[in-house]
Amino acid sequence: ATLTKEEILRIATEEGVNFIRLMFTDLFGTVKNVEIPLSQLGKALNNQMMFDGSSIEGFARIQESDMYLHPDLNTWLIFPWTPGEAKIARLICDVYNVDGTPFAGDPRSNLRRVLDEMKALGFAQFNLGPEAEFFLFKLDENGLPTRELNDNGGYFDFAPLDLAENCRRDIVIELEKLGFEIEASHHEVAPGQHEIDFKYDDVLSACDKIQTFKLVVKSIARKHGLYATFMPKPIAGINGSGMHCNVSLFHEDGTNAFYNPEGELQLSETAYHFLAGILTHVRNFTAVSNPTVNSYKRLVPGYEAPVYVAWSPSNRSPLVRVPASRGLGTRLEVRSVDPSANPYLALAAILASGLDGVKNKLTPPASVEENIFEMNQEELDAHHITSLPGSLSEALQLLEDDEVVKAALGHHIFEKFVAAKHAEYDEYRLSVHEWELRRYMSLL
Ligand code: GLN
Ligand code: MG
Ligand code: MG
Ligand code: MG
Repeated sequence: ATLTKEEILRIATEEGVNFIRLMFTDLFGTVKNVEIPLSQLGKALNNQMMFDGSSIEGFARIQESDMYLHPDLNTWLIFPWTPGEAKIARLICDVYNVDGTPFAGDPRSNLRRVLDEMKALGFAQFNLGPEAEFFLFKLDENGLPTRELNDNGGYFDFAPLDLAENCRRDIVIELEKLGFEIEASHHEVAPGQHEIDFKYDDVLSACDKIQTFKLVVKSIARKHGLYATFMPKPIAGINGSGMHCNVSLFHEDGTNAFYNPEGELQLSETAYHFLAGILTHVRNFTAVSNPTVNSYKRLVPGYEAPVYVAWSPSNRSPLVRVPASRGLGTRLEVRSVDPSANPYLALAAILASGLDGVKNKLTPPASVEENIFEMNQEELDAHHITSLPGSLSEALQLLEDDEVVKAALGHHIFEKFVAAKHAEYDEYRLSVHEWELRRYMSLL
């Protein structure tokens, strides 16, 4: 149940909240906030909090920089920690122009726009259950991250040195205090790598949760003398970190639109169309789901990350898997996404791609049961299996040619995003890397 403005004001006063953080996310997925004292909360709840958007990456031009924050009343939350004496709450906001229209460069409002398109097609809700993986590195005596992992554990291990177990448990306890329903927490395959899963939710809330999740993981890790990173491939030669996205569409009556007990594999026509849409556009939205130079070091064979565009009801090597649960839990698991993605943008791209499949009744290719990584080029061609882009630069090229994904971002975001990412790639291209020195210096 949504609280009203009056209820929020009353609760804030009764609970002795001193400050409220008004939060939103920039184009590159970074959470921004402006903190206001309780005296300003009424004004904020009336959507009268103005800020200068020109200083936010990827936002506006100087001439049109005034913007308003519209708090989403559903996101009211009092933080359980009290730094010093102050009690702090937060509200996640949508960003609006001075003329009262949603700002086209706000990733969260943009996702709402794509959700409206979904509703126009007759679906009520798009759900997301994310599986964000991360690494824990040791901090040095100055509190800076080292290159040393915190443990040597592997998949589902009990670490003998349980610094990480305790740290992970503290993260879970903190998240539960914030209202997360945690489904699992475990050591991942690589040393120092972990995963914590929370229950699926409506995509907007789930994306909000991802943002909160990252802040909590980082701050609790620090209390344990560790540095948490969501960088996709911090260390070569071992698994990287993905953020598998489990997605489904619900109807107005709360039933799962992907489930049909009579269908092939008990999946509905809608599920197959949506799957086909994702497979059609995935190469082109990879720049959004895997938006860093480093993302492409994860998308290589041998480390449980997808490389080839294919799907399977069981086998984990393909890009899209259909996990075994049916009924309400029927879903597609998109395995290419990594945690460096801005979740609001990545999910807008996934949703629009799936809906394109539904609108145009696209059919997916046959599923692939063999291990794709053992196929040679001829076998890949015979199955019409293509691969994901190999670099951020290649991914940007593909994005620029896909009208569906471009429309999912909207003109403003598309332009700003592509320009910034080209610049990022160029900076990388122009720098001389450790590997080059090792390889060539003594040789040439
Ligand atoms: N870390 C793997 C990836 O990069 C996933 C491993 C797993 O969850 N099975 O996607
Ligand atoms: Mg998992
Ligand atoms: Mg995992
Ligand atoms: Mg998974």
